[in-house]
Parts: sequence; structure tokens; C-alpha cells
Amino acid sequence: MTVSRALFDQVMVPNYSPSAVIPVKGEGSRVWDQQDNEYVDFAGGIAVNCLGHCHPALVSALKEQGEKLWHLSNVWANEPSLRLAEKLTKATFAEKVYFANSGAEANEAALKLARRWALDKFGAEKSQIISFNKGFHGRTFFTVTVGGQAAYSDGFGPKPGDIAHADYNDLASFEALISDNTCAVMLEPLQGEGGVVSPTKEFIQGVRELCDKHNALLIFDEVQTGVGRTGDLYAYQGLGVTPDILSTAKALGGGFPIGAMLTTTEIAKHLKVGTHGSTYGGNPLACAVAEAAFDTVNTTEVLEGVTAKEALFRELLAEINAEFNVFAEVRGKGLLLGLALNDEYKGRAKEFMTAGVEHGVMALVAGADVVRFTPSLVIPEADIREGMARFAKAVAQVVNG
Ligand SMILES: *Cc1c(COP(=O)(O)O)cnc(C)c1O
Repeated sequence: MTVSRALFDQVMVPNYSPSAVIPVKGEGSRVWDQQDNEYVDFAGGIAVNCLGHCHPALVSALKEQGEKLWHLSNVWANEPSLRLAEKLTKATFAEKVYFANSGAEANEAALKLARRWALDKFGAEKSQIISFNKGFHGRTFFTVTVGGQAAYSDGFGPKPGDIAHADYNDLASFEALISDNTCAVMLEPLQGEGGVVSPTKEFIQGVRELCDKHNALLIFDEVQTGVGRTGDLYAYQGLGVTPDILSTAKALGGGFPIGAMLTTTEIAKHLKVGTHGSTYGGNPLACAVAEAAFDTVNTTEVLEGVTAKEALFRELLAEINAEFNVFAEVRGKGLLLGLALNDEYKGRAKEFMTAGVEHGVMALVAGADVVRFTPSLVIPEADIREGMARFAKAVAQVVNG
């Protein structure tokens, strides 16, 4: 049997449209396809591979746990999940952890917890959830409805109710919606899929104050920003605003599927025995790999390295833009960077991504107007320079047609 891109169209549900090449091997920030073409990886599996491909610490954690114990279910506790939970609580505001398998599931748990907390403490009236236009929180029906793009939740029948959307960075639009019937507010402390948009200080502090005023829980979706991506372990730590619940996934497992919801003891107590759960949540293999990723990322060396690498990316992007004049601005923080195309190139982000593949560099988009880079947090300087040289060729190709 020949495994080729054509086989995808034959046997896979057509909800994705993958690139024409099939990668088969990765090492650090380099990837090779079936034809042995080599790529510099600025995508990192959509902000997942925080330590690149096949990092030795993760490979060895996976092998070691793989020869000990794979799965138990939550009928029993397991050592890797307890160790990881303890580390997450020590490093953040949180005192309690719930493990899931993905970002959407971590958010689903956060939303269900918030609704139950509000029901227990204030009664059924307090059920409104506020989130923000262009926000992204996953693809379960609850999380996609809370997400800020109706196009992703339309067409699947009746939606979960009592969910309202304000505009990100527009405190007045939020203030107009919140009331004592608001149970929770969910937002990304830097919108990723929505175009790589940082919150203003005034906005994020204002949201926190209004949540306090109306006894609403503030949920930060750090699925994309978490685990060192912005140069802080979690983005909230760099903003000086602490949420009540935080969700984390993507980089948490460095490429092994895992998600987690973090919160305080006071709030967590409302998810009593039997109220929520997951067969795979807290799986020993996932938690062992995540623990190794966490130990490796949560060091001054790696976190400060993120900020230094951001500076190099910005410097090289400025050089490309001086030559080709395609970006209006470079947005984002740390190694979550969005190149917002100027008016002349608006709507054409995907062309830059496709040209990148032809020239040996993997990039992402965040909507039609923004090219996104979310590389490994430990990408070597030489790979950044090589990848940017290739990206410059891709830009030239789009510009010159
Ligand atoms: C990717 C993402 C999700 C969804 O995570 P999955 O693992 O795909 O379910 C949720 N929120 C944010 C901010 C994300 O970037």
C-alpha cells in the first residue's frame, strides 16, 4: 500500500485540508518529508512542540513510563499525574488540577465547573457566560459556542444557551453585558487563532475588576499561551492579573495529548465525586511526558531564551519587511508572533504559508490576514536564521507572483 496525500482524500473525513507533503521524521526544529525534503519548523504543531521534535528528555520519559505502566483510568491514582499536578500548583496561583486530553476538554471542564459553582452558591439565575468575538476555545459544542466565531458553531442544531460575546479590548462592550447573573467570563490572555492580538492593560485589569464586582469567575484560556510560549510560564504572570480558573493544553505535553484545568480549592470543591470525568484524563504516559516537558521549560534559561529569540525574529522580520513591505505590524509576545499583512496583501496569509512549504519552512496562519509563527521554545539561533532566509524567499515569491 502506498501511503500518499491522495490516500487522505480516499479514507479521511474531509474536515481538514492538509499540505501536499507528508512529514515522516523530526529532530529539534527540523522536519523531513517522504521525499526527504527538509523543513525548518516555525509552526511547532500549532504551538504544541515546545521543545521541538523528539527532545531527548521527552523521549526518555516516554520510554521509561512506557515500560512501567500505560493506563489505569481514574479508578486509581497514578504517580506521574500526582507529581505533575503538584508541580503545576507550586508554579501557579492554582491549588487544584483536573486532567483532560485536549484544550477543548480542559475548557469544557472549566465552563461546567463555573456553572456548577454559580448554581451551588447563587442559584439557577446566575448562568450567563461572557466571552469575546474572535476568541477560540476548542471544538466541543459548548466550547465552540463560547468561542467568538459563529461560523464554527452554526449548523449543528440548538446551541448551549446563555452565552454572550463582547469585543476584545473593548471594555465598554463588556461592561454593557456583565451583570450579577454572569457566572463566568472566558478569554485568551492573548488571542491566538483570532489573529494574534494582545490585550491592553486597561482591558484585562478592567475585566478582572468587573468580574469581582459581579461575583463572576474569570477563566483564562491559556491553551496556546501557556507553558512558556510568551516568555512567562503562563501569560497571566506577565500581565499581573490572576484568573480564577486556567486551562492549559497544547505545549503542556510537548506533543503528547494532554490538557488540564487549574483552579483554587474553594472553586474546585464544587466538582464533587461523580460530577465530571474522563477515561484518559491523567493518563500516566501523558503525565510522564508532560512532567519532563514542564521541568525542561520551567527554567530561567528557557524562559529568558524565549524573549531573546523573539527579539531575533523581530529583527529579521523587520529586514524582510524593509525589502518587501508586506506587513503592517508584527504582533504577539514571546514565540507567539503574528505578522499582520498590510492592506495590499490582506486576505492572502495562506499564500505565504504555502510558499513557505515550497521553500522549506513551515509556518501557520491566524485567519486570512495574519501569518503566525509558533516555533519550539528552544529553537537554535542557526535554525531561526535559516528558516527566516527561506521565509524571505517565500515572501519574494508571493510578492513577485
Ligand atoms: C488550540 C486551542 C484550543 C483547543 O485545543 P484542542 O486541544 O484542539 O482541543 C482552545 N483554546 C485555545 C486558545 C487554543 O489555541
